[in-house]
Amino acid sequence: MTAFPPGSTIGILGGGQLGRMLALAAARLGLKVHVFAPEADSPAFDVAARHIRAAYDDRDALADFARSIDVATYEFENIPLTTVELLSQHVPVRPGAKALACAQDRLNEKILARELGAGTADFADIASREALLAALDNGFPVPCVLKTRRFGYDGKGQVKILARADAAAAWDAIGGQPAILESFVGFDIEVSIVAARGVDGEFRAFDLTENEHRNHILHRSLAPARIGPDTSAHAIDIARRIAANLDYVGVFAIEFFAMPPGNSDSILVNEIAPRVHNSGHWTMDGAETCQFEQHIRAVAGWPLGSTGRKAPAVEMLNLIGDDIHAWPKIAAEPGAHFHHYGKREARPGRKMGHVNRLLGPQSG
Ligand code: AMP
Repeated sequence: MTAFPPGSTIGILGGGQLGRMLALAAARLGLKVHVFAPEADSPAFDVAARHIRAAYDDRDALADFARSIDVATYEFENIPLTTVELLSQHVPVRPGAKALACAQDRLNEKILARELGAGTADFADIASREALLAALDNGFPVPCVLKTRRFGYDGKGQVKILARADAAAAWDAIGGQPAILESFVGFDIEVSIVAARGVDGEFRAFDLTENEHRNHILHRSLAPARIGPDTSAHAIDIARRIAANLDYVGVFAIEFFAMPPGNSDSILVNEIAPRVHNSGHWTMDGAETCQFEQHIRAVAGWPLGSTGRKAPAVEMLNLIGDDIHAWPKIAAEPGAHFHHYGKREARPGRKMGHVNRLLGPQSG
C-alpha cells in the first residue's frame, strides 16, 4: 500500500466544523491540510496550512488546489459531483465519486441498501405531484414522509403527510423537487454506525451509537447504543457490505432506525453519510482513535487505528446556538471534554460546539 507520509498535504473540500476537526487530526499525524470552501467565515480556515476561498465550480481555483495537494477528501456530501470528478483527474479523491453519487441521493441509498439485503422503510420514487397523488391513491400507507432526494439535512427538505389531502401542500413545501416517499417508521430508537474502510479494504467500526434529536438536529449521542449484540452485529455487517460495494475509502456513517421487538427487521437503514459524522464526535475523547484521525489515516493510505472504547459509556452533547454561552461552566467541569468550533455568531440551530463525557457503567 502506498501511503502519503507525514509532510504530505491533504486537500479538504468544505470548511465547516468537520473540516476543522479533520485538519486538527491531520496535524497531529504530521500531515498538512489545505481547505477549499466558498464561505469567508469557514471554521476550518483557522486551522489549515492554506485555504482557497472559491466556488466549487471555479475550475481555475480547483486546478490550483489540485496542484497544491497530494490527495483530496470532502467534509460534506453536497459538494457537486463534477467538482470531485474534476479533481480526480489530478489527485486521488477519497471517498471516490461513486460513493458520493450514491450518498447524495436518498433514493439511490435506499435502493443500494435493499440490494445488499438491508431493510429500509417502504419507499416510492416521486418525480412529480401526479406521481405523489398516484402513490397515495395506490395504497402507499399514511402517515408517510416526503423527502427531497438531494440536499436535505437536519430535517430540511422533508415533510410529513398525514392524509392524502396534505399531498399537494407537501409537494409545494419541498419545492417540487425530485423526491422519495417513505413510510413513517415506528422505531424504538435511532442508532448510527460510524466505520472506516481503508485503501486496502480493511474495515473497522466504532461501537454503535444511540442518537436523540431535538427539532430534527442531533442533541445527544450515547455509545454504546442500548441494542442487542445481534442487532449490532447486523448493523456492522450492513456497513461492511455497503462500504465494499461503493469501493469506499474513509470514514462514513449509516443512520438506522432500531425497531421494537417483533418486527421482521431489527434495524432499517435511513441514511448514509459519506463523511465523518456528528454522531461519531464521542470518539474524539472516548475511543482509542477518533473518527477524524481514522478518516485521515484512511485517506492517506495509512493503517486504520483501533476503534476500542475508553470507558463503559461515552456521551456527546451538541451545543446548538445559545447553548455555547455555557462554555465557562463546561470548561470548569472536571472530566468534561469541551470542543468549540470557532464560529463567531451563535445563530439558532447552528452547531457551535459539543461536549464529551466519559461515563461509568450506566443505564443511560
Ligand atoms: P433524515 O434527514 O432522513 O435523517 O430525517 C431526520 C429525522 O426525521 C430522523 O432522524 C427521524 O427522527 C425522522 N424521520 C426521517 N424519516 C423517517 C421515517 N421514514 N419514519 C419516521 N421518522 C423519520
